[in-house]
Amino acid sequence: MHLQNDSTNYKFCPHCSGALEQRLIKQTEPMRLVCIKCDFIFYLDPKLAVGTIIVNKENHILLIRRAIEPGYGKWVFPGGYVDRGEEVIAAAIREAREECGLKVQIERLVNIYSYAGSAPVIIVYETSVIEGQLACDDEGLEVRFFPPSEIPWDNLAFKSTREALHEFLKI
Ligand SMILES: [Zn+2]
Repeated sequence: MHLQNDSTNYKFCPHCSGALEQRLIKQTEPMRLVCIKCDFIFYLDPKLAVGTIIVNKENHILLIRRAIEPGYGKWVFPGGYVDRGEEVIAAAIREAREECGLKVQIERLVNIYSYAGSAPVIIVYETSVIEGQLACDDEGLEVRFFPPSEIPWDNLAFKSTREALHEFLKI
């Protein structure tokens, strides 16, 4: 059974402000947060995220050094959360534009990454560059393209960053 380790962050029912308590509703499912007043079940869903492995004409890969926690000072490819109602591909293109200044085009799905006890589900695409000038936003300290042989494996921000790059490079 998977964990929902962030479920204790919520104390009150979003409908009636009654107290939430942990209840086992189905044997095969995790404990749920249930309102003791109105019986509302507060399901905690996964959070959908998207990432883009941006490849230039020399087959170098774009990485950003993070200016925010988690993973401050570590390298990651552009990405972020998909907004409710936003197409996943549109979110991928938007995040790349925001975080490194490049307009990209989706080439293919690399894979989908999820981990027990962790809310994000990360969809990673390979993309190519259409146009734009390389630039950081306020979430990045530095942005640059790396030849595959120089990827900073010991200094990547997340498990999904490492796994997706390994899978993409087949190494
Ligand atoms: Zn309630």
